[in-house]
Amino acid sequence: MTKLRLAIVGAGPAGIYAADILLKMERSFDVSIDLFEQLPAPYGLVRYGVAPDHPRIKGIITALREVLDRGDIRIFGNVRYGTDITMDDLKRHYHAVIFATGAVRDAALEIPGIHASGSFGAADFVSWYDGHPDAPRSWELDAASVGVIGNGNVALDVARMLAKHAVDLLPTEVPDSVYRVLESSSVTDVHVFGRRGPAQVKFTPLELRELGEMRDVDMVVYDEDFEYDEAAKAAIAANKQVMVVDRILQSWRQRPSVNNAGGTASRRLHLHFWAKPVEVTTDATGRVAGLVYERTRPDREGGVEGTGEIRTIAVGQLYRAVGYFGSPLPGVPFDERHGVIPNHEGQVWDADSNELVPGVYATGWIKRGPVGLIGHTKSDAMETIRHLVNDQGSWWNPDDPDEASVPALLSARGIPWTDLEGWHRLDAHEIALGAPRDRARIKVVPREEMVAISRA
Ligand SMILES: Cc1cc2nc3c(=O)[nH]c(=O)nc-3n(C[C@H](O)[C@H](O)[C@H](O)COP(=O)(O)OP(=O)(O)OC[C@H]3O[C@@H](n4cnc5c(N)ncnc54)[C@H](O)[C@@H]3O)c2cc1C
Repeated sequence: MTKLRLAIVGAGPAGIYAADILLKMERSFDVSIDLFEQLPAPYGLVRYGVAPDHPRIKGIITALREVLDRGDIRIFGNVRYGTDITMDDLKRHYHAVIFATGAVRDAALEIPGIHASGSFGAADFVSWYDGHPDAPRSWELDAASVGVIGNGNVALDVARMLAKHAVDLLPTEVPDSVYRVLESSSVTDVHVFGRRGPAQVKFTPLELRELGEMRDVDMVVYDEDFEYDEAAKAAIAANKQVMVVDRILQSWRQRPSVNNAGGTASRRLHLHFWAKPVEVTTDATGRVAGLVYERTRPDREGGVEGTGEIRTIAVGQLYRAVGYFGSPLPGVPFDERHGVIPNHEGQVWDADSNELVPGVYATGWIKRGPVGLIGHTKSDAMETIRHLVNDQGSWWNPDDPDEASVPALLSARGIPWTDLEGWHRLDAHEIALGAPRDRARIKVVPREEMVAISRA
């Protein structure tokens, strides 16, 4: 029987689901899968994107772990495709590769002043608070008033992490170094800006409602933002999610806040709708001093248009959560405009030759762009795997498919790779660190330390 030697690059949910689906499906050949992951820990953005105070979502890790624990997938952690292992290596040892490398950087927002000191991408902030080994280890929360640009769930995560009192994050897996910074935070007011109206935002109800449940944080919404046109009223009537989002926001209009001379909380989270950022102003030292925005209004086609009315809100730091963006991989076609690997249902496509690239596949956020929840990566992987299986005639012909050759190659290159047992060791170590303090775990952050514990 033929044996498919498959490499999967990226051990986030997309890569793990792809392996799971292939191993479980009925097929006419055996399979041996190697999963390459640049970090010493698997699970991608579930570990390094989902906020620490979302334990229910982090719980998806249990299902992903069960897949890895079945014993028929090998993990090579701390191995980066493009430097530690190349396309030529993969062609020599495998019949095909699936890229599941996700999207880890911030999409650009080109407005004047956006690169000033004190202006950050959400991806950097998220990586910091989730203890990503490659993120900066220090962060300063030294401004009382901060801005967050964006009307999606990542903007809500960032705003919540900035507004929430550190002590309320203590039971979570927030790293110690992050906790200490949050504990001494100067933030009192978080302003979230989105260019659309309340009936057009991409927040999901659960995540929005959670903001209003924070202890000692007042929600502040502004009456002028709720003058709905016919399109907004129709959207609320037609779509249950929009209706619930509206209901939550309307309930906050009734709460005591700075707007109606009520509100006693020590922190406030303001939601500004119809606010299109146009410029970041700076002080004499070049640091963020304010966000200039233009009021927008509905354009009668479900979008927005500028009104010409310009306003400024003073903020000492600014976080932009306007989307994530994929990164190019050596030897793999890349669509610079959309930040994805060009593909047809997961079969990688080379725009120059206008042909499918044999043996090369994509799945997850690098395949379809950084939208959608973890669950969506499963259906996505199913589509990619279906093509991989049907394409048997065009797989590569590896010179050396021996399973022992890859670990030998990595060792010969001096790469300190980690395996599944190593991950179990690190996982147990983190949980043990947290246990005496009733914490879910305490993440080990420096890469060298993660590797040392894994390889002990
Ligand atoms: C801030 C944030 C919060 C989120 N919160 C939620 C939530 O609450 N609920 C929810 O359902 N979804 C949430 N999501 C969405 C969810 O994280 C994604 O749907 C999912 O992680 C995408 O999976 P993926 O495997 O395609 O990418 P990723 O999870 O990014 O995994 C990609 C993996 O590939 C690895 N990799 C990249 N390049 C290389 C390379 N060159 N060599 C080797 N390995 C490489 C990365 O290290 C990573 O481990 C959130 C996303 C973000 C950004």
